[in-house]
Amino acid sequence: MKKAIVIGSGIAGLACSLRLQKQGYLVTVIEKNSYPGGKLHSINKKGYRFDMGPSLFTMPKLVTELFELFDENPDTYFKYKKKEVVCHYFWPDGSRFTSVANPKQWVSDASIFFNEKASKLERYLKKSALKYKVTAPLFIENSLHELKTYLSWKTAYALLKIPNLDIFKSLDHYNKSQFKSVKLQQFFNRFATYNGSSPYQASAVLSMIPSLEMLQGTYFPYEGMQAISQSLYHFAEEKGVQFLLEHKVTEIICKENKATGVQIQGLNGVESSVIHADIVVSNADVYHTYEHLLPHLKTPKKIKTQERSSSGLIFYWGIRKEFSELDLHNIFFSENYQKEFEDIFEHQRAPEDPTIYINISSKEKATDAPQGCENWFVMINVPANSGQDWALIREKAKEQIIKKLNKLLHIQLETLIETEEFLDPIKIEENTAAFGGALYGTSSNNTQAAFLRQSNRSKHIKNLFFCGGSAHPGGGIPLCLHSAKITANLIESQS
Ligand SMILES: Cc1cc2nc3c(=O)[nH]c(=O)nc-3n(C[C@H](O)[C@H](O)[C@H](O)COP(=O)(O)OP(=O)(O)OC[C@H]3O[C@@H](n4cnc5c(N)ncnc54)[C@H](O)[C@@H]3O)c2cc1C
Repeated sequence: MKKAIVIGSGIAGLACSLRLQKQGYLVTVIEKNSYPGGKLHSINKKGYRFDMGPSLFTMPKLVTELFELFDENPDTYFKYKKKEVVCHYFWPDGSRFTSVANPKQWVSDASIFFNEKASKLERYLKKSALKYKVTAPLFIENSLHELKTYLSWKTAYALLKIPNLDIFKSLDHYNKSQFKSVKLQQFFNRFATYNGSSPYQASAVLSMIPSLEMLQGTYFPYEGMQAISQSLYHFAEEKGVQFLLEHKVTEIICKENKATGVQIQGLNGVESSVIHADIVVSNADVYHTYEHLLPHLKTPKKIKTQERSSSGLIFYWGIRKEFSELDLHNIFFSENYQKEFEDIFEHQRAPEDPTIYINISSKEKATDAPQGCENWFVMINVPANSGQDWALIREKAKEQIIKKLNKLLHIQLETLIETEEFLDPIKIEENTAAFGGALYGTSSNNTQAAFLRQSNRSKHIKNLFFCGGSAHPGGGIPLCLHSAKITANLIESQS
């Protein structure tokens, strides 16, 4: 029986392990942490449960198809529901907009609130869906680095449509050309943050993202976001995937430019052994893989120099009160959006006036907080770590966040915080080996970003593959699941 090793149990590692198991490999996943899931995991504190990482769930089919691959009913393992309200938006002037999942209703609500013609809004969403349909087969569902991708008719169609995709405009430039409402421009600009980029630099091809959220919908797993990784982990174990938790891969062993296994080390740092395999898949951050696991290979320049995506500063607050004006997803916009992204990407500093995102899973799953309380995941976008003073930044950000929320929600938040945890870029890197604590690998702030991302098959080492947020096609749960699928397909086609 052929053996496969997957380094890391992030969402892509879990998905890839299942796909390889299905192909008949004997799969071992090696994970340095005591828990599976990487960024997708949760903690409990004083009666509150917090999802630590992802909070927005779209395209659930990409998860359920993993159960279906084994002819199992996904409902037995993983249940989720569609959200009717997508997000509550708040602006500094006190105005509020509720974004709903029903596209007709959304157009009607938005045309009133933003004072834009309904036909313009409909056209924008239609074009957004078309952009996704045209580009997904080329940029998301297949390898960009294999000749055969370019020989398919879908790719030829995508290439033909390039002039209609607004690739060479920035997302902000495109949104400004579509709408006069500054608030609506900001609303659609925010979608660049879904892969950790700046709307003022990233291509307008990202205007495809709203169609995924607004036309296909957003979802919530009944047991919280951690149920995505937990259910896949238990399912993989049931199907025979072996997990070695609390073991770190210290080297990918290569003979004559061919991966033949890995060197692993237990948490005590002493016990060390070698596991042989026919193929090795790294779900660890690409930079970490090159710099630390492939000592005999020079890290490619593009891996070293590519701009990282944004990171996050997150407070997990147990709040001793319930708020009827808030829902699962809530956004409190900054006054000057452009300045916020200049701070993050040009000056590498935490924004002076950050947009605040609050996720409250207890709105959907009441047991996530004690009665009468809410579990707040409060996040601002910050740059990836490049040596900033994060303790100082955290202290200042907490003050700013509290001040802003006090003003807009008419509360004294500081008196309501019962418990606190936090994540910053340093902790994110410590927990998951993500270089600089970037949330989504590399940014998409230039038009070549998709082509510069690590390919799923190593060009230097035979039988070595990459999947996850820092490899093609990029970060975020849906793209990581595509990454796992592309990688597994490449492995299948070579065996
Ligand atoms: C705060 C936050 C908010 C986010 N919000 C969203 C969201 O709302 N929606 C969304 O879709 N995405 C979101 N993301 C992004 C999303 O979480 C990631 O893109 C995705 O989870 C990355 O998965 P991955 O497969 O790349 O693996 P990761 O989650 O990065 O896991 C990699 C795993 O590899 C392990 N590992 C690394 N090196 C080694 C080694 N040498 N030996 C053994 N194990 C190793 C790590 O311990 C880790 O468990 C968010 C991320 C964060 C942190």
